[in-house]
Amino acid sequence: MGLPRLTIALAGIRQNVRILNQLCRERGIFIAGVTKGVSGSVRIAGDYLAAGLTVLADARVQNLQKFSGLKAEKWLIRLPLPSEAEQVVQCADISLNSEWDTICALDRAAQKAGRRHGVILMSDLGDLREGETDPEKVLRLASRAARLRGVELRGVGTNLTCLSFIHPDEAKMAQLQDLAQRLPMNRAPIVSAGNSASLDLLLTAGFPAGVNNLRLGESLLLGRERSHYQYLPGTRHDTFILAAELVELKIKPSVPWGETGTDSYGRIPPRPADRGLRLRGIVAVGRQDCDIETMWPEDPGIEILGASSDYVVLDLTRSARSYQVGEVVRFELGYFAIMRAMTSPYVTVRYEGD
Ligand SMILES: *Cc1c(COP(=O)(O)O)cnc(C)c1O
Repeated sequence: MGLPRLTIALAGIRQNVRILNQLCRERGIFIAGVTKGVSGSVRIAGDYLAAGLTVLADARVQNLQKFSGLKAEKWLIRLPLPSEAEQVVQCADISLNSEWDTICALDRAAQKAGRRHGVILMSDLGDLREGETDPEKVLRLASRAARLRGVELRGVGTNLTCLSFIHPDEAKMAQLQDLAQRLPMNRAPIVSAGNSASLDLLLTAGFPAGVNNLRLGESLLLGRERSHYQYLPGTRHDTFILAAELVELKIKPSVPWGETGTDSYGRIPPRPADRGLRLRGIVAVGRQDCDIETMWPEDPGIEILGASSDYVVLDLTRSARSYQVGEVVRFELGYFAIMRAMTSPYVTVRYEGD
């Protein structure tokens, strides 16, 4: 099989989903299983469902369209593009919204398709990404949305720790629940408290009664909550392994020579410390396929030194193994590295353990 190769441990993901689903259900929370980090992989979405979830969520219409054969409620968790309203109502049962004009476009598209499209209104509780910052404005949107025929008001939501990295806290959750109680609707609203960064608060202080949903991606894939980056007990984080082939292996000095210019971002990189002669290796995988900030060599004797578009450069001096050109180096991946690997057409994906 071609290299670089991403091996995905489906049994590990199912185990994470079962553990998190149990923890959430005991606390009155249902999970929307987020698949955007894995390019809307149908295999992984199917495993979310096999492990007990009933809702699939993705940021892209193109990914949700791949789920047409899966029996689940589907949520679009990026604000819909007004220009794609027709596709949204076809592939998603519910979307997250903050703009009246978009809600109207969804309403028209839903009526035309003879459907009813659910909307969750987003409240910005301080992270300054999507949503209304003023709760009265959310309520005004809600009362207007409640009068539409193609659109059905389904609840409120918030998203935190994604742009300004503001943590969820008890006061913010209470604000969300207060807002939910004032919605003009007859049935219990969906009150969607955020992403994997809200898990820690749920497991420690808990949420106010009435808050009933989390949209989880990273924690299902990697068993990790995102506010303190703890691995949750019993979960697996070696679920995504990237194998790349060594194409050069040489002893070189640790300090480059000549005059330093600017890097691709216009910054002058600092000179590395002089550690003498080192065994350096190059693997045939690059920034286009992975993210060196969120990947770790399985061999503890290997260090990542840097990367360009098509190469990752390693220091293998301290490794107990003696590698040869043509051999494979394996890395455990974190969220952004997974996202890049799943998006890159140059990475072969292999599913394991079903
Ligand atoms: C990405 C995203 C999520 C999932 O985030 P994780 O940290 O992967 O759990 C949830 N909600 C929204 C709106 C998102 O954009």
